Amino acid sequence: MMNRTFKSGESREQPSLLPPRIEDYVGPDNPVRAIESYVCALDLAKLGFRHADRGVEVGQPPYDPADLLKLYLYGYINQVRSSRRLEREACRNLELIWLLKNLKPGYRTIANFRKENWKALKAVNRSFVLLARELGLVGGSLVAIDGALFHGDASKASIFTRRRLAEQIANLDREIEAYGKSLEDNDATEVEQRPDGHGDGGGGHGDDLGARVKELMAKRSRAQADLEGLDTSEKRQLSLTDPDARLLSKGDQTIAGYNVQSVVDDKHKLIVASEVVNSSDAGHLHAMAKAAKEVLEVKSLQVLADAGYYNSADLKACEDDGIKAYVPPSEGNGALEKQGRFSLKDFGYDATVDAYRCPAGELLRPTKGRFTNTSGRVEIRYLSRKAICGACPLRARCLAPKGVQRSIGRWEHEDVIERHRARMQSADAGDLMRRRSGIVEHPFGTIKCRAGYRHFLVRGFNKVRGEWSLMALCYNFTRVLNILGFERFVACMVAKMLLVHKHALVAALHCIQLAPNAFRAQIISWFAISRLRPAPAY
Ligand code: SF4
Repeated sequence: MMNRTFKSGESREQPSLLPPRIEDYVGPDNPVRAIESYVCALDLAKLGFRHADRGVEVGQPPYDPADLLKLYLYGYINQVRSSRRLEREACRNLELIWLLKNLKPGYRTIANFRKENWKALKAVNRSFVLLARELGLVGGSLVAIDGALFHGDASKASIFTRRRLAEQIANLDREIEAYGKSLEDNDATEVEQRPDGHGDGGGGHGDDLGARVKELMAKRSRAQADLEGLDTSEKRQLSLTDPDARLLSKGDQTIAGYNVQSVVDDKHKLIVASEVVNSSDAGHLHAMAKAAKEVLEVKSLQVLADAGYYNSADLKACEDDGIKAYVPPSEGNGALEKQGRFSLKDFGYDATVDAYRCPAGELLRPTKGRFTNTSGRVEIRYLSRKAICGACPLRARCLAPKGVQRSIGRWEHEDVIERHRARMQSADAGDLMRRRSGIVEHPFGTIKCRAGYRHFLVRGFNKVRGEWSLMALCYNFTRVLNILGFERFVACMVAKMLLVHKHALVAALHCIQLAPNAFRAQIISWFAISRLRPAPAY
C-alpha cells in the first residue's frame, strides 16, 4: 500500500488559532479599514440617522447607527444583502468582527435599520458624491443619463392592468357559466333518476359544483372591484404584493419592478444623481439633469440620453436651466410615411415669413389663436390654401383622401426643438452620442453583472430607494477607493473627519489608528497639505 501525505490543518485542540488582538484579524491595507475611516468621518446626526444623536438614556442602549452603516456597506460591497445573512456574517466573518468590534446585531435590528433610515441612506449617497466632487473626481461638464430595470419583490402575476383584469373577468364569466350549466345538467339527471321528480337533497357532486361557483363569483367580485378601483384612480396598474412595483418593458424585456434612473459623470463614471421610478424613461430627462447640475454646482452641463428621453417639454426645461441636452429625436410611428404621404420633415419652416413651405413650394400661413393638442402642448396652426391644394399634382401624396388642405401644428416653443435638431446635426453630436453608452453602462454593468444586483429585496418606494442608495454608494465607494488607492483614501477621510467632528484631535487620532504603521507618517503629511474645503451642509 502506498503512503500518501496531504497538507494538514491546525489541530482543533490548539488553544489559540486566531491572533490574540482583534486588530490583527485584518491586514494593514484591508479595504475594511477604508469603510471604517469613511463612516467615522460622517456626521450621522446631520445626515438624519435615527439614534445618531442619542444621549444617555434609560433602557437598553441601541446599536450605534455608524456600526450598522458599516455592516451594510461591507455587506453590499461583498454581495451580502439580506439581514439574516448579514447577521450570520457578523458572527463568523473576521473582517466584520473587526469592523463591528465583535458586536452581533440580530437580523431584525439590521433589517429595521435599512427600513427606517432610507432617507438618511439617500443623504449618505449624496454626501459621497459631494466628497468625490471635492476630491476632484468628477468632471462636472459632461454626464449621461439612462434607466435600468430592476426586478421588485413581486411577480408579474401579482400586477394587473385594466386589460388583464377585464380578461380575468371574462374568463371567470365563462367558467361560471360552464359550472352553472353543469349544475343544471346535474339537477336534470337527478330528476330523471327519481320517478316522483324530487331530488334527495343529499348534495354530493352538485354541492361541490355549488361551492366552486360561489368561489368563482367571489373571485369575480374582487376582480370587478379592482377594475373599478383602477378606473377611478390615476393608477394604470394594480400591484398586490409590492404596491409600487409596476410591469415595465424595455426592448424585449418585461419585468415586475422599478426603473432606476442614473446620471453618470464622464470623468470617472461615478453616479452623481439617481432616482428610483416606476415608469418608463420618458419625462425624466430634465428632473435627472437638474438633480445632477445641482449636486455638481455647475452653471452649465452637457447631458447625453437615448431616444427614450426625447420630450419637447423636457428639452425646453433643460434649455431654461442651462443644460445642453443631446437626445436623438424620436422618429414617431411614421404613420404618414407608411401611407406614402409627406410628413412634417418634408415641410421647411421659414422664420423670415413665419410660414411653412410645402414640397410643392407653396406657403402654409399661421391662423389666429392658439390650440392645445392632445398631449397638452399649445400650438399655432399653419394652413395651406384650399384652391392651390385642389390643383396641386402632389395632393395624393400630401392630403388625406377627403382632405382639402394641409395643416401643420407648430409648438409655441418650436424654436427649442429647432435648436436641438441643429445641435444633433453638429459635428460633435455624433462623437458624444457614441460615448454615451460607454459612460452610462459602466455603473449598470458593474452593479448588475459583477455584483449580480438585478432585483430589490424590499418593497415600496421608500425602502427600495434606500436599498438603491446602498447599491449606488457601494459602487461609487469601490470606484473612488480604486482610483485613489487605500492610503490616499484613508488620508482624505482623516482630513474630512477633522472638518466634520468637534473633537478634532480625538477624531484624527482615531482615523490615524486605522492606518497601518508603515503609512502613518505619510498620512500625516498628506493631511497637512490637504486642500479640502470646509464641510458642506448635507
Ligand atoms: S397639396 Fe397643398 S400643401 Fe400639399 S404639396 Fe400640394 S400645394 Fe403643398
